[in-house]
Amino acid sequence: MISVAIDGPSGAGKSSMAKTLAAELGFIYVDTGAMYRSIGLYGMRKGIDLHNEETVKELLKEISIRLAFEDGSQHIYLNNEDVSQEIRKEEAGMAASAVASQTAVRQFLLDLQRNLAQNHNVLMDGRDIGTVILPNATVKIYLTASVQARTERRCKQLQEKGQSADFETVKKDIEQRDWQDINRKTAPLKKAEDAFEVDTSDMTLEQSFETMLQLIRKQAGLKGESI
Ligand code: C5P
Repeated sequence: MISVAIDGPSGAGKSSMAKTLAAELGFIYVDTGAMYRSIGLYGMRKGIDLHNEETVKELLKEISIRLAFEDGSQHIYLNNEDVSQEIRKEEAGMAASAVASQTAVRQFLLDLQRNLAQNHNVLMDGRDIGTVILPNATVKIYLTASVQARTERRCKQLQEKGQSADFETVKKDIEQRDWQDINRKTAPLKKAEDAFEVDTSDMTLEQSFETMLQLIRKQAGLKGESI
């Protein structure tokens, strides 16, 4: 099986890139952030303190997460409810970041993520895919962009969805999530030693896509067509 690990900070474009690349290559796209977001969402709905490790650990006993690939896109089911849309909200992202620092949560999702890569050619995006989940991934990419570029893109995305987007608030959210993801003890966000770094600050979507596609094809020994 071929596995492509794409890690990097929030808003670097990992999911949109991974989605289009997976479609181009005929791989399955696994969005691991969606799993953390689903747990965060569940905790938010229950109104618990998401930073309390014991409470969150107890909560995991009530949670089942399942991915389904329908019409070429990933749907995520939290206790059999399709939460694919709801988890995209900013609050769910912050909630995800709070629970993602906890060992019990990461352990809970580890097998689910590894199993997917065992049974399919995958493009998996997250924070610790190349370092912890798939240390032997065929290709590892660290996708990043400046805080300024990431904030601009996130604001544009929110506006397109008709949601409000205050630049400074979005920027602060991004900086806070970076800080939490980089400084946590368990599986912090960092570039794997053998990962290729792609900085998309000054690239268009098309340029980022082409750069990554060429990199993956070359490293995985793929020809110019889907397999
Ligand atoms: O990638 P996305 O923004 O959807 O991820 C939401 C949060 O989940 C991140 O800020 C990060 O804290 C956490 N996460 C993680 N490890 C992953 C994927 C996401 O810690 N593999």
